[in-house]
Amino acid sequence: MNLILFGPPAAGKGTQAKRLVEERGYIQLSTGDMLRAARASGSPLGQKVAAIMDSGSLVSDDIVIALIDEALTTHAGAPGFIFDGFPRTVPQATALDDLLARRGQAIDLVVRLEVDDAALLARVTKRFNEQGRPDDNPDTFKVRLKAYNDQTAPLVPYYKDRGKLTAVDGMASIDAVSAGIASAIASKAAGRA
Ligand code: AMP
Repeated sequence: MNLILFGPPAAGKGTQAKRLVEERGYIQLSTGDMLRAARASGSPLGQKVAAIMDSGSLVSDDIVIALIDEALTTHAGAPGFIFDGFPRTVPQATALDDLLARRGQAIDLVVRLEVDDAALLARVTKRFNEQGRPDDNPDTFKVRLKAYNDQTAPLVPYYKDRGKLTAVDGMASIDAVSAGIASAIASKAAGRA
């Protein structure tokens, strides 16, 4: 099962991905986590993306596509992948389709977590106060939300047209969101979605 957790920043994608990892043994592929790890290591890639990430804008497609390509190879044979924060542009989505096709695989399901902007801002402000992630500050968050609306939201029709998209109410409790995702996976596995 190859699943994309889709939604704006702070929609709960990372939280839900971690649950799927624990419960099902899927591999979480979060480009945000990979880029933060590159920064923490002080690698040339980390240095290259630091300013862009701090601004709230998206790094270039080539960089994140290469990270995903490498991770798919590293984890070949995994029972499933959860893509978290990737793809974020239409070129990234077409590249992902190609990377998977080359490996005889495809995206099975795209779960869209729906959360309104006011709730996102409240969540990210709380996360900023608790975890101090620099790009969670309210001004940068607005840039991230704009990047989502301008560059990432066009993926909704992309996956809808391909019959892959399922919406889950991301305003519900964490357990209720997990249940919604589990039900979407079960429907897909049964060939009904
Ligand atoms: P995230 O933790 O997913 O919100 O990602 C944090 C930051 O990393 C984003 O604001 C972007 O600067 C960068 N980033 C993460 N994933 C991507 C992606 N798929 N495409 C472009 N930039 C990304």
